[in-house]
Order: sequence, then structure tokens, then C-alpha cells
Amino acid sequence: MLRIPFDRVNWVPSAFLIGTLTLSLTAVPLYIWFFGLPWYQLLLFLGFFILTGLSITFGYHRLFAHKAFEAKKSVKATALIFGSAAFEQSALDWCSDHRRHHKHVDHEEDPYDISKGFMWAHIGWMLFKLKPRPPLDNVSDLRKDKLVMWQHKNWVWTGILVGFLLPALIGGAAAAIFGAKGGFWVGFLGGFLIGGVARVTAVQHCTFFINSLCHTVGTRPYSRKCSARDSMLMAIFTFGEGYHNYHHEFQHDYRNGIKKWHFDPTKWTIWLLSKMGLTSKLRRVPDEKIEAARAKASEEAAIERRRKLRRKVRRMKLKGVPRLRRRQIIAAD
Ligand SMILES: [Zn+2]
Ligand SMILES: [Zn+2]
Repeated sequence: MLRIPFDRVNWVPSAFLIGTLTLSLTAVPLYIWFFGLPWYQLLLFLGFFILTGLSITFGYHRLFAHKAFEAKKSVKATALIFGSAAFEQSALDWCSDHRRHHKHVDHEEDPYDISKGFMWAHIGWMLFKLKPRPPLDNVSDLRKDKLVMWQHKNWVWTGILVGFLLPALIGGAAAAIFGAKGGFWVGFLGGFLIGGVARVTAVQHCTFFINSLCHTVGTRPYSRKCSARDSMLMAIFTFGEGYHNYHHEFQHDYRNGIKKWHFDPTKWTIWLLSKMGLTSKLRRVPDEKIEAARAKASEEAAIERRRKLRRKVRRMKLKGVPRLRRRQIIAAD
């Protein structure tokens, strides 16, 4: 039977995560049923989805947690403000968790350890507090950044203002301007539900996929050491973070998808802003080093395959499978 440790529930994050998901599955479709989905509401959803999603992958992840490039103050401030509207904690807390994830991946100290199960890595680690939160002792560099510290203290109210009130006001104003049914207040409610609630739910689960699906679905071309996987499909849902096996091996590279055709909008944004002088010192791992890692991983994969095959043959021999049949089974593998 399912046993929920109620004494360990993280009540505020749990109420937020379950509340926004429930509203997205009930109130949002009801609103669309009654009032339709005007183009400006759809645009609000997409605009806020991209801004807040990229603020996590571009800002929280590659800029603050990994220092994969440098950025002007205006870019940092934008990423911190729209990042707060993704409601994934402050950048300081997020980076501390994420740096522990890289250091202890697949082990006890990893906050979203995939070996504790898919749902734990996806969302469970935020719903329950099984152990006291470790001290923020791995982000001393970020503590020196005044913008990061300001956001650490103020992210909840900036998140509410930018993540819920702003889309609601834009939705209301657009409804009034374009003379939509119900006027300002119906547009306001639509902006809140579509640009706010549905958008935050979508962004959160897309970024949560990095901890769950990106450690489950895909291949391991650069390292066999950990569970992180590379997958083009996951890159589509995670703003390019789906090349997660590469990222775990070379975490300071500003790219996750290293080939030109790899879908990595976060990398493209960093590169584009560097051409405008807003980001700089983009870190790239030399091609030879990447090739060496790939060759080592493929050698290890071949050894693993041979070991598996030997185990299989041994099991078949024990079961008394005739030699000819054994050969047929192995050839079909
Ligand atoms: Zn990971
Ligand atoms: Zn990372």
C-alpha cells in the first residue's frame, strides 16, 4: 500500500506544484471552453514559456551553476527576474542543488538521484524533505554577486509579479483593446491561467525532465560513468538540455548539443548574445578531448556488450540449450 510520510511533506512547494498542475488540467481547459483561446493569449503562453524556460537553462544552469560564459549585468538581471517566475527556487539554492547533483550523481548525496526512482528524480525530491537541507557551502562564488543575493531574498514576490500578475495584466489589456467578449477581467483571468498557471506548469515539467527523463532515455556516447543520457527528443522538450550525457562529462561547455544540427536553443541564445556583446568568454571543450572521451566510451560499451554476451551464453549452457540454438539466439541479438 502507498505510504505517504506526512511528517516529511514539504507543504508549500507541494501545494504549489500540485495546485498549478490541477488548475492546468481543470480551470485552463474550462476557460478555453467558455472563452476560447485568442491569439494574444497563445502568444503570452509561448512568450513567457520561452523567457522563463530559457532563464533557467541559460541563466540558472549554464551561466550561474556552471559559469560556462560571462554575461552583462542587464542579461543576468533579466535571467534572474524571469527565472524567479519559473518558481524553481532562487538561483543560489538551485545552483547549490545542481552542483551537488553533478558532484554526487546517482549517489545518496545527489538531491535528484535517479537511482531512487523516476518520480523521485522528477518531482518527489521537492515534495518531501527526507533529510535536513545541506548547507549552501558550494556557492561561495555566487554569494559575491549582488544581483544573485538580491534575487535570493526577493524571488518569491518577483516571481508572483512577473510570473502571474504581468501576464494577467497583458491579457486583460489585450482583451480590452481588441474588444474581446467579457472585456478586461476575462482577459485578465485568461492571462493569469494561460500565461501564468499553464505556462509555469509546462516550464517546470520540461525542466524537471532533465533530472528524470534525461537520466533515463537516450544514449551514452561520451561517458559510461553515470546515468546521464543524450537524446534529441529530450532536447526538444528541455531547451537543448537533452544532450545530458555530454553535459555531465563536460559541464563547463556553454553548449550541450555540440554539433551544428543539434537542437540547443540555449546554446544559440548564448552565441547570439555574444555577437551583440552581451555575453562573452564562451567556454568550449577542444574537439580532440571530446573525440578521446567518445572513443573511450565506445570501447567501454563494447566491453560491456561482450561481458553481457558471455553471461547470456553461460545461462543458456546451464539451461542445456543446444549449441546450434545458442548460436541462432546470439545472431538474432
Ligand atoms: Zn543530470
Ligand atoms: Zn549541469
